[in-house]
Amino acid sequence: MSAVIYPTTNLAATEQLLFDRGEGIYVYDQNGKQYLEGLAGLWCNGLGYGNQELIDAISSQLAKLSYSHSFGGKSHQPVIDLADKLAGMVPVKDAMVFFGNSGSDANDSHIKLLRYYFNAIGKPEKRKIITRERAYHGVTVAAGSLTSLPANLAHFDAPLDALGILRTDHPHYYRGAGAGESEADFVSRIAGNLEQLILEEGPETIAAFIAEPITGASGVIVPPAGYYDAVQAILDKYDILFWADEVITGFGRTGNLFGCDTMNIKQPAMMTFAKQLSSAYYPISASIIRGDMYEPMVAPSAEVGIFGHGYTYSGHPVACAAALKTLEIYERDGLYDNAAAMGDYLQTSLQTLYDIDIVGEVRGAGLIAAVELVSDREQKTPAVELAKKATLACQENGLIVRNVAGNALALCPPLIITRDQVDEMVDKLRRSIEQVA
Ligand code: PMP
Repeated sequence: MSAVIYPTTNLAATEQLLFDRGEGIYVYDQNGKQYLEGLAGLWCNGLGYGNQELIDAISSQLAKLSYSHSFGGKSHQPVIDLADKLAGMVPVKDAMVFFGNSGSDANDSHIKLLRYYFNAIGKPEKRKIITRERAYHGVTVAAGSLTSLPANLAHFDAPLDALGILRTDHPHYYRGAGAGESEADFVSRIAGNLEQLILEEGPETIAAFIAEPITGASGVIVPPAGYYDAVQAILDKYDILFWADEVITGFGRTGNLFGCDTMNIKQPAMMTFAKQLSSAYYPISASIIRGDMYEPMVAPSAEVGIFGHGYTYSGHPVACAAALKTLEIYERDGLYDNAAAMGDYLQTSLQTLYDIDIVGEVRGAGLIAAVELVSDREQKTPAVELAKKATLACQENGLIVRNVAGNALALCPPLIITRDQVDEMVDKLRRSIEQVA
């Protein structure tokens, strides 16, 4: 037994797969066995493994300026270039960017930015945040309180009550709809619940609504048509900010540049990015807010002498260089278009799995998808054990997938995937599910 406390792991389980190296969309274990990385690591490795150009960009930044910070009057070119680059890409008006190291700390920063902003404009009571059931927004004490998955809350005394986190419905029609309820009725019912929650709590106490445009960790939930239109109309009515957590859905993943584009979310006030921002070659995250939120924050920071929030590694120059090069390669090599085309092909190919009895729902958008297994299609009985076995069967067959939401298998391959590799991925998935069916 090693001294590692393994993250997000059943600590009682003993089986482990040790990876040794990676190349393109494949990883190899210590025995040299090859696996197609069907989840791009943890939904993050957009460019796949061993991208020499990216490695070179990171190495040369390490050699030139291995560290610098941006506290109190210091800065450096990579952090300026990356902030400007992101500000020019996102649908956030006059975007301003705060850098961190992970999706979790970026969401924590957003909670603090919200407070700072509402205090600055004289609305200190506007601080509650609405999250959704089945949301995943990270695991730090604050972001972990926005997360709704039981395993992330249980035994940690989470959520932290002081944060004022409110929970509303998840938009998964397959699991959430009542008997005979149409998609439109489902949408208007859960939108109605959201409005009721806001009225009960008092709109003047609610700062923001956070959502993954398409959820990842909770099973790749693609909300029904009209859901975000209804949500946005309600938020606008009560002056509540829309906060898009694009940690997984950012940068081509869902078939468009952002998940907001795919889901027709217009002009979010805040966005969170990490993971594919640097293709996971170097940790970096970005918390982005609207320019008109930033402006009032200047005066109180002048009064105190500093805006007292920042990490040693906020805007680390090597991380920024990694992100800049990653974004350059995504654009130059047409990887957003590739993700859209391969995504369409993947979603179509996955539909063929419905001929296997235990496949209950196939869902996704672009290069993110999930296949939910059931022991009874009519009853939609979750087949949790079969999903675990299918995940292991995939591994035996040389495909890495992730078992999510108990009975689903998630796919989220690197954006560089080719048509033949999509075929290989879907063939291996089919074979594995058939083996356990
Ligand atoms: N938000 C979302 C939507 C995520 O999927 C994740 C991680 N899976 C996080 C936040 C947290 O990111 P990190 O693990 O880098 O802290």
